[in-house]
Amino acid sequence: MTTLYAIYGASGCGRSLMPVARQQLARQGDASEIIFIDDALTDIASVNGHRAMNYQAFLNETVSEKCVQIAIANSRVREKIAQRLEADGIQLWSITADHVVLMDQIELDEGSALSPFVSIGSNVKIGKCFHANLYSYVEHDCVVGDFVTFAPGVKCNGNIHIHAHAYIGAGAMIKQGTPDQPLVIGTGAIVGMGAVVTKSVPAGATVVGNPARIMTQK
Ligand code: UDP
Repeated sequence: MTTLYAIYGASGCGRSLMPVARQQLARQGDASEIIFIDDALTDIASVNGHRAMNYQAFLNETVSEKCVQIAIANSRVREKIAQRLEADGIQLWSITADHVVLMDQIELDEGSALSPFVSIGSNVKIGKCFHANLYSYVEHDCVVGDFVTFAPGVKCNGNIHIHAHAYIGAGAMIKQGTPDQPLVIGTGAIVGMGAVVTKSVPAGATVVGNPARIMTQK
């Protein structure tokens, strides 16, 4: 049985996650090919030594199984592509770098990408297609929704609930909640880089600064 693995997106996110994908297969002792899918391509190309093609060309590849990691930072695009893959019967592929620490009782849904030096604490539940970039952590008892994105160096402390499609910028830190009163980052909220989040953030809001405050339009 041959499996073709792919990284969807050949821009910054995809090219950073390809080495993670290689580490994932190497640990499994699997020598299968990994390609890039990128819809900006019209012809078969080569990106960092891997074959690269658009989604239609990928569909035309004849193999018994196809697994795809959606390596695109924009969570709405990730969701749209995940729906298309599901409709086409293609599996979402989770990839984990070699130097990732996973503690006890972690539920991690399909399609995740855990970059080098990410740590996930105990009793954490994470939804579909989670991206945790370099050096980010998620501490104990957090609940993370679908299509959440962490830029590098995010410090997500214990008892925090992050809802679907939230984006947490580089180096942001979020204050821990308590078991009865978790700190909540609402659906689609954006936390600016370096923000120090001390209280819950409403759905759709953008917060910046220390202490983080809702950004208002000027
Ligand atoms: N892309 C794609 N299909 C889509 C949407 C995006 O192949 O439906 C590709 C797009 O051509 C680009 C990449 O995904 O190469 C997204 O790259 P971008 O630089 O916007 O962001 P990144 O997620 O890499 O930071």
